[in-house]
Amino acid sequence: MSDSPEAPATPYDQFRAGERHDDVFFFLHEDAVGAPDALQHVAEDVGTGVVLVLPGDRGGEVFQKVTGLDPMEFAGVAMDTEGHIDASLTAGDCPSRDADSHFVKFVFAFSEEENPEVGGIYAEGDVIHAYAACNCGTTYSDKWVVGERDD
Ligand SMILES: [Zn+2]
Repeated sequence: MSDSPEAPATPYDQFRAGERHDDVFFFLHEDAVGAPDALQHVAEDVGTGVVLVLPGDRGGEVFQKVTGLDPMEFAGVAMDTEGHIDASLTAGDCPSRDADSHFVKFVFAFSEEENPEVGGIYAEGDVIHAYAACNCGTTYSDKWVVGERDD
């Protein structure tokens, strides 16, 4: 028994803790995309928008429906540009920062189980791969070992 007063972990917490490798995550900014009505019951409100954690295939379909982009194609393009995405997976620092009005429209992310055979950061723990689309049109990516990023 735990006497912790904390609320039970949500799928969003579990994803960021590397406990949902079979699921995909996405964040949808309320001013840019918003959550489709059909997903309101599974979306978690994070203030600036909503986050969703869904089984891989289903998540990919939903992502494509709401953004018009295939998630793996989007990730492939975003991979070409490195940027900082917050551990919250709902914000980041746009690498094309020539104005102060940049904000993240949406984020797509998945996690990978620790894999010593691959080496590098993959041997250090579970890895979160995140891909962001800025409102200016720039896309960028980031990755980190679970638990090693504070912001
Ligand atoms: Zn930007």
